[in-house]
Amino acid sequence: MKADILEKSIFELQFRIQKQVTEVRKTANSYFPVCPGCNTSLEREYQSYCDRCGQALSWRGFRRAKVEKNT
Ligand SMILES: [Zn+2]
Repeated sequence: MKADILEKSIFELQFRIQKQVTEVRKTANSYFPVCPGCNTSLEREYQSYCDRCGQALSWRGFRRAKVEKNT
C-alpha cells in the first residue's frame, strides 16, 4: 500500500514539472500546439496546464516549435 502512495506522488510530481511545448499540429485552416504529455492538440495557446492530462506546460521555446507534418 505504501509503495502505491509513493508511486502516485511521483506520478503527480512529474506533471507539475513543466514540459516545453515543442510541436504544433497543422489542420486545414489552423495550427494547434501539441501537449508534450499526452500528445493531443491544445485548444488555447499559453495555457498553464493541459486540459486532458494535467501536464504543466512551458511555452518558452514555443516560437521555435516545429510544425508536425500531417501524414
Ligand atoms: Zn496533455
